[in-house]
Amino acid sequence: MSDKFDVIVIGGGPAGYHAAIRAAQLGLKCAVVDAFAGKDGKAALGGTCLNVGCIPSKALLDSSKQFYNIAHNLPVHGITVENAKVDLATFIGRKDKIVKQFTGGVAQLFKANKITSYFGKGRLLKDRQVEITGNDGSRQTISATNVILASGSVPIELPFARFDGKHIIDNAGALDIHEVPKRLGVIGAGVIGLELGSVWRRLGAEVTVLEALPEFLGAADTDIAKVALKEFGKLGLDIKLGAKLAKAEVKTTPDKSGEVHLTYTDKDGDHSLVVDKLLVAVGRRAYTEGLLADDSGVQLDERGRIVVDEHCHTGVDGVWAVGDAVRGPMLAHKGFEEGMAVAEWIAGKAGHVNYDTIPWVIYTEPEIAWAGKTEKQLKEEGVPYKVGSFPFAAIGRAVAMNEAVGQVKMIAHAETDRILGVHMVGPGVSELIAECVVAMEFKGSAEDMARIIHAHPTLSEAVHEAALSVDKRAIHKGN
Ligand code: NAD
Repeated sequence: MSDKFDVIVIGGGPAGYHAAIRAAQLGLKCAVVDAFAGKDGKAALGGTCLNVGCIPSKALLDSSKQFYNIAHNLPVHGITVENAKVDLATFIGRKDKIVKQFTGGVAQLFKANKITSYFGKGRLLKDRQVEITGNDGSRQTISATNVILASGSVPIELPFARFDGKHIIDNAGALDIHEVPKRLGVIGAGVIGLELGSVWRRLGAEVTVLEALPEFLGAADTDIAKVALKEFGKLGLDIKLGAKLAKAEVKTTPDKSGEVHLTYTDKDGDHSLVVDKLLVAVGRRAYTEGLLADDSGVQLDERGRIVVDEHCHTGVDGVWAVGDAVRGPMLAHKGFEEGMAVAEWIAGKAGHVNYDTIPWVIYTEPEIAWAGKTEKQLKEEGVPYKVGSFPFAAIGRAVAMNEAVGQVKMIAHAETDRILGVHMVGPGVSELIAECVVAMEFKGSAEDMARIIHAHPTLSEAVHEAALSVDKRAIHKGN
């Protein structure tokens, strides 16, 4: 085996493995260096997304939704189930099996694409050499014409609430709880806090979420965030806004299980709260520890992210960076696109990433999804716009499913009618957002969407009606 490659990718997460597979498809000789170890201590490709992020969280969200529906949705359908129970070993075990299937799947894809996989930590030296330290301490150096840094991100740790893996946990810890906590505290009402808070709430935990900002889901459209906050309240998530954590202390209990004593401050003063476990989900930061030798030439910005230009190039000849380790939203699909685009640029082709149409999805119940600008952003930018909206309460399919909650809101340019943003909360919106992204990519107008036939009865009619509503001609509501 030669140790000289066309491309070395450091990091086998979503951004890195997409880069590697695309590079291999384009005929480039490619290696991936990744240090992630699964529960069995063996290499587990796929990074945070496959191991402790997107996929395992969706597995638990789905399992917990099935359980929650037994008591909260099935009776409406005339179905009652007595004594429903959750076997947590099976619940967590199913998730672990899915993770193994997908991490193993990436390894298979590497084999099929003749990508060389190194299990260890990669460090970029000068002249595109990469030093690999194996998990057993062994060292070797390989080199390439191009190196793609895709080292991802790690959870931000609060100095006054350090992770201990048992009582104070991060996203990985919250995916691996083996007894439903009676009281779960969550710091941060962001994507992870809401998704994982929902999982444990649905299984019966009392969940209190402390969010430092006074506004709920500030990045989302205000109307959408308002509906979501109300629905999460119905689920029983106790979300306290403007609540800043000051201290978290683990204390022993007579039964030795331990608990976490929190002190937080809001506009009314200091408060205390005691929980059995505390999930800290206050954001993630780029992971670059040990990644760059002093003379690698690669720069980090003030937030510790690798500095890149609009083509994900670091400014060092042949060195690129993609995914969570660089600017832009920390979303797996943003990393996918950057990884593939860089492989294409390396191969002399026309790579492409449109940062303006990246969809956002929060997989709660109801789901939240959006793409493009919010009304607030357009106001700030002084762009004239018009709005159409449509409630799922008037969508036959949603009512038939007993999931008629939320709405679709479409924002179009006031003069050109071009779709500038679509914001949704409701059933299945993680899928509905895709057609809006397509329309926006094709620079479609609200009228285009309004003239496209949507199957009846489907949830997608809410998108159609919202588009009609932009021109005040929705059929199934007053305009
Ligand atoms: P986030 O940025 O979504 O939310 C963090 C929240 O914590 C913010 O609302 C912030 O105001 C709050 N916060 C910060 N410090 C606080 C403090 N001291 N006390 C109380 N609140 C505080 O971050 P996250 O939920 O940790 O997720 C991390 C990253 O992972 C995000 O970039 C997210 O996009 C990504 N992710 C995406 C998905 C998805 O796409 N569905 C799922 C999980 C994670």
